[in-house]
Amino acid sequence: MKIGIIGSGLVGATAAYALVMKGIGRNIVLVDLNRARAQAEADDIQHAVPFANPLNITAGDYADLAGAQVVIIAAGVSQRPGETRMELLSRNAAVFRQVVPAVLEVSPEAILLIATNPVDVMTHMAARFAAVLGVPSSRIIGSGTTLDTARFRTLLGIRFGVDPQHIHGYVIGEHGDSEVLTWSQVTIGGLPLDIFCESHNICFDEGDRLEIEARVRRAAYEIIEHKGATYYGIGSALSRIIQVILLNQRSILTVCTLKKEVLGVSNVTLSLPHLLGGDGILDTFSSSLNQQESEALKASAEHIRSAIDELEAANAI
Ligand code: ADP
Repeated sequence: MKIGIIGSGLVGATAAYALVMKGIGRNIVLVDLNRARAQAEADDIQHAVPFANPLNITAGDYADLAGAQVVIIAAGVSQRPGETRMELLSRNAAVFRQVVPAVLEVSPEAILLIATNPVDVMTHMAARFAAVLGVPSSRIIGSGTTLDTARFRTLLGIRFGVDPQHIHGYVIGEHGDSEVLTWSQVTIGGLPLDIFCESHNICFDEGDRLEIEARVRRAAYEIIEHKGATYYGIGSALSRIIQVILLNQRSILTVCTLKKEVLGVSNVTLSLPHLLGGDGILDTFSSSLNQQESEALKASAEHIRSAIDELEAANAI
């Protein structure tokens, strides 16, 4: 089982490390513009293998991706001083215009897993470049709000003293400020949140909700402020998504993918609870949201769509 990773910066390399620690896949190939960096990361991670799982990790070129089942794209350029958000996005669009066809040419059956931010817009671009080659959007997936959902469940788990694996509830929409926490769907051990609180004599009010919302939404900002970048959480989320694909686990994850229409917004890429398996996106669980959540999801979809519109107007995609 071969996994490719384009862009062996902090996110790409940490994803590779997480795969090795968990023993997911058999061969990992790192491809980066900076070949020496890719080689150094491959060597460093390979040295962890004797303490972890029997994987083979190498640095290579696109040709070495032949036969890969999944390819993570974590390549991107960072903001230059004085550069606008749109200029940065246009430069990243240029990276994807080159990278996506290059991967699919050698590995036409691969599922692409996009991690570069802003991940919804970048996944949209990847889907568009892949469509030209006849690759369906069900095989172009972004990490989306997978990590945000995990953060949401973790905070609820800590608050209620329950293993987060037994707490359900999703973060959907944009991976960013407009994301939507679906409080109306939260269940703990199968009990809706309000019934759980009532039956356990727990007071959980609007203030508690807002505090958790803020911590989920602000998590990345706070980490970046103090250590410059986030990579352990997203690296682990990417390894989990790959595990689901390679083992055809049919798990429900809030990855993002191209949707024909979401609440009246057409042709937009965002996260919803998606059934994921060996062939990519298999199904979408349209949520029974309350009115406030539906309105927030629509606003989130419009926000992403307007970024795509701007890119289209600038002829960047
Ligand atoms: P992050 O924190 O998101 O991982 P980094 O800047 O650490 O960001 O890593 C991004 C990586 O993407 C860098 O190693 C860079 O060399 C790589 N990269 C940029 N453009 C390309 C490209 N066209 N092909 C392959 N790798 C690329």
